[in-house]
Amino acid sequence: MSELLEAAQQRMERAAELIGLEQEVVSHLLDPIETLAASVRLRRDDGSAVSLKAWRCRYNSSLGPTKGGIRFHPSVHLGEVETLAFLMTMKCALMGLPFGGGKGGVAVDAHDLSTMEMERVARGYVRAMAKILGPDRDVPAPDVATGEREMAWMVSEYSEIAGSIQRHAFTGKPVALGGMPGRTPATGRGGHIALEAMRDLAGLGEEGGLTIALQGFGNAGRWFARAAENAGHSIVAVADSSGTITDSDGLDIDELVEVKNEKGKVTAYGDGDASDDPEKVLSTECDVLVFAALGGVIADEEDVKALNCKAIVEIANRPILPAADSALADAGIEVVPDILANGGGVTVSHAEWVQGRQGIDWDEEDVSDYLEQKISDAADNVREVMQECDTDMRTAAYAVALRRLCAAISAHGTRADFGKS
Ligand code: GLU
Repeated sequence: MSELLEAAQQRMERAAELIGLEQEVVSHLLDPIETLAASVRLRRDDGSAVSLKAWRCRYNSSLGPTKGGIRFHPSVHLGEVETLAFLMTMKCALMGLPFGGGKGGVAVDAHDLSTMEMERVARGYVRAMAKILGPDRDVPAPDVATGEREMAWMVSEYSEIAGSIQRHAFTGKPVALGGMPGRTPATGRGGHIALEAMRDLAGLGEEGGLTIALQGFGNAGRWFARAAENAGHSIVAVADSSGTITDSDGLDIDELVEVKNEKGKVTAYGDGDASDDPEKVLSTECDVLVFAALGGVIADEEDVKALNCKAIVEIANRPILPAADSALADAGIEVVPDILANGGGVTVSHAEWVQGRQGIDWDEEDVSDYLEQKISDAADNVREVMQECDTDMRTAAYAVALRRLCAAISAHGTRADFGKS
């Protein structure tokens, strides 16, 4: 088992112990049910060919078909894919969705690929993984560097292989192909709903505008920023790979989105202070630091020392590694954990999957109510366990997820490995 996965499981084990779960049941969650490793052969536009490493992990399906995104990133590897699939298992359970957890990835730099090359990789990935995919088996979605466009290519390739239209085999598709209005903003909006629901427990008081520093200005980051700005909070710093832009009076998010779209970097924003140091955002004085980029940003005690915030919201998956947990607790920084703060994406994915099965379109208002309801319910459940067990938010979130998972694992009886075949 990879070190990454083992480290991630420490948090689950801490929660299991806290609520007194049977070790035998929890042990079902220590290994993925299956992981397929494959090579995706890419014919480049110049005629040359390269072979890309790719994985798809179905971690656990006790609660339903496995669900989770596919990322394209040069650093993707087996251990990361399995760890993220484990996190999806916890997230879907916490959000009360009838899904298990899965994840996929291709080790490739999407910025190096033309549109046609991206399409070939997306379709090649589906051909390589088709035997473990399917609307009732494993349902992918977007993740880092993949979005609606990639899901459209993937669902078209999968339907071709299946010999029938399989729209609900993928979520995060364009609306024109059975996608859900509101799926693209869902992760960022969900992060904001989670922040509002938990702000008192995060030591941020019950009301009033907050100052927020944001790492990452991709899809999730910008939708979070819009929602937070609309609610009266002030985004005082935003970082992307080009650096950090800071304005203690608050950045204008619409303008920043425009700049990012046109010039590709937040530091091109006209006002405020621009620094070419992307890490500057981490030490910005603020109420809330929001992580909406990649994983592993806060890896240890040293990284915690640089922070200057009261609370953290994890919109990215695993931005804080378990080795930093106790230093954060000692510093009095409460964390709204990823499995709650970014649960909005998979929640609206669930609505999209249901829409595909029903063949009846949902309207945007219903989607938005569903998102609000699911995050609020999950937050209420986490709050109850925090109070019941006098514990932190992340441990409570794992405890809620584990209770649901363990009830399902026990109910499956001797076929607790349900879903393997
Ligand atoms: N990639 C997203 C996540 O990590 C969404 C997963 C999904 O919608 O299935 O939660």
